[in-house]
Amino acid sequence: MSGDTSLLHLDGIPPDMLTKVETYLEPFRLSLDKLQEVSARLEKELIRGLGKHTHHRASVKMLPTFVRATPDGTEKGDFLALDLGGTNFRVLHVRVVEEEQKMLKVDSEICAIPQEIMQGTGEQLFNHIATCLSEFLDSQNLKGQTLPLGFTFSFPCEQKEIDKSILIRWTKGFKCSGVEGKDVVKLLKEAIQRRGDYEIGSVAMVNDTVGTMMSCGYRDQSCEIGMIIGTGTNACYMEEMKNVKRVEGEDGQMCINTEWGGFGDDGSLKDILTGFDSVVDEKSINPGVHIFEKMISGMYLGEIVRLVLVRLTEDKLLFNGQTSEALLTQGKFETRFISEIEHQDSGLENTQRILTSLGLDWNEVDARVVLLVCDTISSRSARLCAAALATIANRIRVNRGLDHLKTTVGVDGTVYKKHPNFSEELQAAVRLLAPECDITFLVSEDGSGKGAAMVTAVAQRLALQSRL
Ligand code: BGC
Ligand code: MG
Repeated sequence: MSGDTSLLHLDGIPPDMLTKVETYLEPFRLSLDKLQEVSARLEKELIRGLGKHTHHRASVKMLPTFVRATPDGTEKGDFLALDLGGTNFRVLHVRVVEEEQKMLKVDSEICAIPQEIMQGTGEQLFNHIATCLSEFLDSQNLKGQTLPLGFTFSFPCEQKEIDKSILIRWTKGFKCSGVEGKDVVKLLKEAIQRRGDYEIGSVAMVNDTVGTMMSCGYRDQSCEIGMIIGTGTNACYMEEMKNVKRVEGEDGQMCINTEWGGFGDDGSLKDILTGFDSVVDEKSINPGVHIFEKMISGMYLGEIVRLVLVRLTEDKLLFNGQTSEALLTQGKFETRFISEIEHQDSGLENTQRILTSLGLDWNEVDARVVLLVCDTISSRSARLCAAALATIANRIRVNRGLDHLKTTVGVDGTVYKKHPNFSEELQAAVRLLAPECDITFLVSEDGSGKGAAMVTAVAQRLALQSRL
C-alpha cells in the first residue's frame, strides 16, 4: 500500500519491467499487520526505557525532561532562545505576552555552522555559539540585560534538572569531540564566560520535540505530544510520574523525550530492514545507532532512494543501464528531491529537471520509475512514524484508563511540512493503528525556537507559584 497517487503513474511502466522493479521495492512496503507488530514492539521498548533497572540497556531511552507542566496561558516575559540541531542554528529573542496569549518572535538570526565546526572540537562549537549570541545581542541592543535563555538542543541528553543536561551521543551530522558525557549547559556557560562581554540568566534545556509540544501547548492546551520528522525524528509526550521510575515522586506528570530514533539499535527491527538500509547505516557517521531514524528522517531518505536507483540502473531497469558520477556519489540525491518529484502538479517536470541535473540520460518510463521509488520510500517513512505515534497515543489513553482519547500532537520538521502527502499518509495510517484515539495534528510555528522560551516561562511560573 503506497498511497493512491502512485497508481496513476504505474500505467506508464511496462508490466514485465514493473514486476522486476517491484522485487526491489516490495521489502519497503509494510502491511498494516506488520506495522501493528512494530507498534507492539515499540510499546515494550517504551516500558523498558522507563524502568529503573532496564533503562540502561534500552534502545529507546525515554529520557525524563523535568518539564512537569504544559503552558496554562499565564506565562509572560522576555527570553532568549538558541536552537541547535535542526536544519539551521538560530538565535532568537522571544516575548511572551500574557494578555494576548501570544508568543512573539521579536527577532531572530540564522547563524551558519560550518562543516569543520560540526565535526570539530566541542570548544570550537561552543565558542562559535557564544559568538553568534554575542553578535545577536549587539544587534538587538540587549547586552546590558540578563535575560533567561531557553536552549533547544536536539540531541539525546540525560537531564538531571532543567539546567543540567548531559549529552549521551551526537546524532545527525554532528560529531564534536569532548562533548559526549558532558553537561552541555556548563559548556555553554563556560564559553560565554571566556568571552566576558555579556551575561545570561537562568537556562532551560529543551529537546526540539519538547519545544514543539510546548509552543503548540500555548495555543491548544490539550497538546501533550510533540513530534519531529525533519533532519532527524523523535517524539515526546506527557507521562504519569508514577511510571517514570527513575525520577522521585508519584504525583503529576513529566514530559518524556522518547528518543524513538534509537528503536532497533538492539536488532529488534531486523525483519523489516532492507539491504539498502544496512548500507545507509554502514556509510553514516554513526553506524549501528539510530536505526529507526535512518529509515525515516530527512538526513537519510534521499540516500535510500539513491541506493535503490543505483541498483535498478545496474540491473538495467533505469537509464538504459548508465549511471552517472553524481548518482554514484553519497548524498547527491537530496531528500528535498523526493518532495519535488512527488509534487502533484509539477512532479514530472521536476523529476526531469532533477535527473538532468544529476547527469542522467532519462526517458519518460525512467521518470515514472523514479517517482515510484520515491513514493515507496517516503510512504514507508510516514507509515513507520504512524506506527510509533499510535503507540504513544495508545499509551496515554491506557495510562488514563480511557476507552477513547482525544489529544493533540504538535508537529514540526521539514519532511512533515514540505513533502506533498506525507502528513496525509501518516494521519491515515494512525487512524487505522489507533482507532480509539482521535488525534489533532497541529503544525508548530517555530516550535524549537519559541518552545524553548515557553519552557523557560513555564519553569519561571512554577518557581514563582511555589514561592507564594
Ligand atoms: C535526536 C533527537 C531529536 C531528533 C529530531 C534526533 O537525531 O536524537 O534528540 O529530537 O533528532 O531533531
Ligand atoms: Mg528544529
